[in-house]
Amino acid sequence: MSDVILVGGGVMGAATACFLARDHAASVTVVERDPSYAQASSSLSLSSIRQQFSQPVNIALSRWSIAFLRRVADELATDDDRPALGLVEPGYLYLATAAGEPGLRDLHAVQRAEGVDVALLSPAELSARFPWLATDDLALGSLGLSGEGWFDGPALHRAFRRKAQALGVRFLTGDVVGFDTRADRVTAVRCADGRLIGGGAFVITAGAWSAPLGAALGVTLPVTARKRDVFVLETPAALPGCPLVIDPSGFWFRPEGALILAGGPPRGEDACDAPLHDIDRGLFEDLLWPTLAARVPALEALRVRSAWAGYYEMNDVDHNGLAGALPGYANAYTACGFSGHGMQQSPAVGYSMARLIAGGDAPLIAALAPQRLLDGHRLVEANVI
Ligand SMILES: Cc1cc2nc3c(=O)[nH]c(=O)nc-3n(C[C@H](O)[C@H](O)[C@H](O)COP(=O)(O)OP(=O)(O)OC[C@H]3O[C@@H](n4cnc5c(N)ncnc54)[C@H](O)[C@@H]3O)c2cc1C
Repeated sequence: MSDVILVGGGVMGAATACFLARDHAASVTVVERDPSYAQASSSLSLSSIRQQFSQPVNIALSRWSIAFLRRVADELATDDDRPALGLVEPGYLYLATAAGEPGLRDLHAVQRAEGVDVALLSPAELSARFPWLATDDLALGSLGLSGEGWFDGPALHRAFRRKAQALGVRFLTGDVVGFDTRADRVTAVRCADGRLIGGGAFVITAGAWSAPLGAALGVTLPVTARKRDVFVLETPAALPGCPLVIDPSGFWFRPEGALILAGGPPRGEDACDAPLHDIDRGLFEDLLWPTLAARVPALEALRVRSAWAGYYEMNDVDHNGLAGALPGYANAYTACGFSGHGMQQSPAVGYSMARLIAGGDAPLIAALAPQRLLDGHRLVEANVI
């Protein structure tokens, strides 16, 4: 019997398992229904990291995580592997028209108070720094000067799994459909094939599919799967120094090698529940392309090379992760609902979850405890992309 059983082996489950084994010598079993991770958010992520959040807890998690990512080759080394994630830090650039300027200034004040390395740029400063950017309609930009960029997220997920396995963590294939409980303790997970897997503590790390597992324990986890489409663009244009740009319209783009990745808010909630193969090509043709070409005239000449979609594991209450003890249980926990910023937070959250489960304190994630839902306390993240 393992000390800890995790349900779901995406980046949150893998990171938590890895830190439990590495830092606390725990025996750990991860139960994952699809070991190919084909539909897991962790396989379909844009894997970018920023410090520009509205909530101090998110800033703290990303600050901890970027430091970890910079030293990942040492942190997650195994006898035969030193993981390389290709981390680059060109920053995020939030753009605002006059209507959005006060909001951007408010966020800047919060971020500066938290020590974020971020600068406000006037349209003239934006043009000087990014000559390929159309700034006529802009009032302000907010550029992260360090600690923001992107990396190979699936490689991070793999590195957590490999390190965990090297430390003895077992990854079992199984579709968890329920739990056995005694008073305020969970005693086992139940798999669809009838297997019962017992343990000392239990963690729901099932991403967008966490809600039914919470319900099986009588706990509401308000997390739903929300599809997001990503378009891979080829262009002869060069955009020197291009950060991850968030247009006032909500559309975003960033380079990936010689390619451009771009996406934006879905068209209506209906599109959110669609299957992942159901890419909304019209979103690109009707909205994204005209917006991109107006913002970066050089991108008028581009070709869609491919596209993919993945599910955000959206916490519909306040768009922030739920990380900590499950209310009403002495030995059950969750880390889910990170609403599109879970890849970058997985190092800090996994580290903190492991400390919590091992009986220590976890100040980094204290504000994300699921108990806040019962207390009626919403921790709304304003900066959700
Ligand atoms: C298009 C897109 C872009 C994104 N961009 C970014 C970004 O730029 N930066 C960022 O930080 N984050 C980003 N994210 C979000 C990030 O990828 C997720 O927050 C993160 O991967 C969530 O990890 P997870 O382990 O919680 O969930 P998942 O990776 O989805 O893992 C959950 C796992 O649980 C398993 N599971 C579910 N139910 C059961 C069950 N009953 N029994 C057993 N196993 C089960 C699933 O098979 C799955 O493997 C993006 C996501 C998408 C889709």
